[in-house]
Amino acid sequence: RQVVINPANGEVIAEAAVASKDEIGFAISSAREAFDAGSWPRISLEERKGFLLKISQGILDKAQELARLETLNTGKPIKESTFMDIPSSAKTFEHFANHLEEYLKEETKDLENARSRLVREPHGVAVLIVPWNYPLLIACWKLAQALAAGNTVVLKPSSLTPLTVLELAKIIQEAGLPKGVVNIINASGDTAGELLCADKRVDMISFTGSSAVGKKIIGYSSKNVKKLIMELGGKSAGIVLKDADLELAINGSLCSIFLNQGQMCTAMSRILVEDDIYDKFIAGFVDKAKRIKLGDGLNYETQMGPLISEAQREKVIEYVEKAKKEGAKLLCGGKISDNPELKKGFFFEPTVFADVLPKMSIFQEEVFGPVVCVSKFSHTDEVIKLANATDFALACAIWSADTALAQKLASRLNAGACWINTYGMFHNEVPYGGFKQSGFGKELGREGFLEYTRLKN
Ligand code: NAD
Repeated sequence: RQVVINPANGEVIAEAAVASKDEIGFAISSAREAFDAGSWPRISLEERKGFLLKISQGILDKAQELARLETLNTGKPIKESTFMDIPSSAKTFEHFANHLEEYLKEETKDLENARSRLVREPHGVAVLIVPWNYPLLIACWKLAQALAAGNTVVLKPSSLTPLTVLELAKIIQEAGLPKGVVNIINASGDTAGELLCADKRVDMISFTGSSAVGKKIIGYSSKNVKKLIMELGGKSAGIVLKDADLELAINGSLCSIFLNQGQMCTAMSRILVEDDIYDKFIAGFVDKAKRIKLGDGLNYETQMGPLISEAQREKVIEYVEKAKKEGAKLLCGGKISDNPELKKGFFFEPTVFADVLPKMSIFQEEVFGPVVCVSKFSHTDEVIKLANATDFALACAIWSADTALAQKLASRLNAGACWINTYGMFHNEVPYGGFKQSGFGKELGREGFLEYTRLKN
């Protein structure tokens, strides 16, 4: 067994069972059997839809309890879990339930002297590995798509945040899915990772997490070749042009780095500001960053909660110290909160560095915390070069009154998603996923869903 901690005060909130090697093997074999001999891949799409809608409703029925649990386990503000994580989790099941027939529709092509049928099939057994920053939501993205496509699954949450996924297990059980279709195991990546990802009985792996672990998984899976979806890290750039609505750009940029304590793969951890408005932007941005209210996520007034763990906070501190040494100018934060009420939690102040250069590690590496660097540019060619100057290519945001120009810039940016005058909108209808070391494959939308199928001609 393993203890689960509330990061707002370091207290133990639960004990979770940890899967043994044998249990991991059993989870794989039960998913294999349910796929090869069970009904799930073969039931009518209408029936499959019914099960998915039941899961969606089950999440909504327990929404308040799930939101509270998610906040207790991750520290994120209750407003975020109540209005984003939990309802979006239910909506994803609903979306793929309602669209699976349309997405799975077969195509026929009349050829010279032949007719071709293009048929979408499930891959088989899908291993789904998810991180701790959106424990329930990312699990639901993967589960809803994998199940709608007809796969059976083994899902592994992060051992830091297994609680809402374990509640989801009960909801799935109540929905009455056939035995063996969904297998959830709680285990650390170090012990379970290779066992799950190198196993020949597994047909696909959908992974969301760090680029470092993603590379290991690609290695494990290479032993017998599997379908992979890799949603990895990021160092995304927010670009503020001189004609931007300044208030919108400042508020949007604050949200793009300090939401969920900056622990977002799409965090805009680099803000590139046109020199004409650089000073004004920085003054407004820092003023508001300093006023962000830190606290226990369960308090409705809280705007930023604690980091997920002491180890994560240590990592953030290391990056901050390195940035200072490398000559970045610290404008606010950069330290553990000195509020005595927050002493026991893993809190860290919203941190802003200015005058950051591309060669500095704070510009290049993913911190995964409330730390942002601001840099200046003077023309559009320069900003494209700066934005594209990292190994990652996940997302970007452009703030400008000239949307035609913003579209043109977007077409030159290395990023799987470009937001214009908004940030962080995820929709079940459209795909999401990065390039370069941010990974490959998509989640959501028709295109993401089809990743969970194989195409037979
Ligand atoms: P992580 O890579 O440490 O862990 C992710 C998951 O992988 C966890 O379940 C963990 O237990 C498991 N894991 C660890 N070692 C493993 C191994 N050797 N084999 C198999 N599985 C293993 O990431 P994290 O710290 O939980 O999350 C933060 C990272 O996730 C950041 O890099 C962030 O950018 C990324 N992320 C990406 C997206 C995206 O969509 N691109 C979304 C959210 C988070």
